[in-house]
Amino acid sequence: MDYVKTLPRLFDIEDTAMTETHNNGLTGRDVLSVDQFDRDKLAYIFQRTYEMREMVAQVGGCDLLKGHVLACLFYEPSTRTSASFIAAMERLGGGVIPITQGVQFSSVSKGESLPDTIRTLEQYSDVIVLRHPEIGSSKMAAEAAIVPVINAGDGTGEHPTQALLDLFTILDELGRIDGLKVAMVGDLRFGRTVHSLTRLLMQYDVSLRYVSPELLRLPMALMNELIDRGIPVRETHDVAEVIENADVLYVTRVQKERFSDPTQYDEVKDFFRITPEVMAQAKSKMTLMHPLPRVGEIDPVLDSDPRAAYFRQVKNGMFVRMALLAAVLGRA
Ligand code: ASP
Repeated sequence: MDYVKTLPRLFDIEDTAMTETHNNGLTGRDVLSVDQFDRDKLAYIFQRTYEMREMVAQVGGCDLLKGHVLACLFYEPSTRTSASFIAAMERLGGGVIPITQGVQFSSVSKGESLPDTIRTLEQYSDVIVLRHPEIGSSKMAAEAAIVPVINAGDGTGEHPTQALLDLFTILDELGRIDGLKVAMVGDLRFGRTVHSLTRLLMQYDVSLRYVSPELLRLPMALMNELIDRGIPVRETHDVAEVIENADVLYVTRVQKERFSDPTQYDEVKDFFRITPEVMAQAKSKMTLMHPLPRVGEIDPVLDSDPRAAYFRQVKNGMFVRMALLAAVLGRA
């Protein structure tokens, strides 16, 4: 939704932050898709992310979002996204309504509609983070809400804040994004993190490789978009074909919960595994990433490999979400 939402007015804030117009273009906006982020906005968020990281390293937290409340509404399981949004809000001095473990204990189990739940939560909060199994659910919520809504994953659609932290991690690990060869492996069909990261990378001078079984290939529409934009792109079934040249290997889980036919899941679930033998073929400066959870596709022995960035990626998620919450709430 492209208009500015309602933001809280706080009376104890002396600086001009609430009244300034910040040129980040995010204040008071919903965050539904990565398509809202051009390179300037990304640079802005990443700059703020570095500042948040520095601030946490120095003093642990601050009062930037004191007096603000975040409602975290998760209709699908989550560990990292929910925990990092909560940690982000708390480190910035704000409060949280966490409905993350048991939507079944909320009125949703009594049959309440998503718009009604959203209209209720916004009576208590200034921003709502929503995860939901259906594509388009966050857009529906945003239309119902007068406060900004942040999409924390809508089914097999998008996961924009994960893509922000993924891109930030690439930048942080390798010092640049332009010029890189990025290979994505695994469930490219249902993987919303793959869809969102692909859309962000389209804005850069990168070349992309997609590795999956036939059944889990990248959706055709997304592939056609890459081709139309002139991005060098190739598909293969074999990690061995991409490993030597990749700067980034972005591994994803085959997502059991997205299959309606369990035999199809069984056919592809053990499609690949990244082991020390596979990594022996990779560049010494390559970055190994995963949105997590992993269920066998990366050998834990690799956790001590300096190229394994997935736990640093997890931590970056908190800093990126701190930057994003501050921007959306106009406390840049
Ligand atoms: N945590 C990621 C997501 O929510 C990836 C996954 O679940 O496999 O999409």
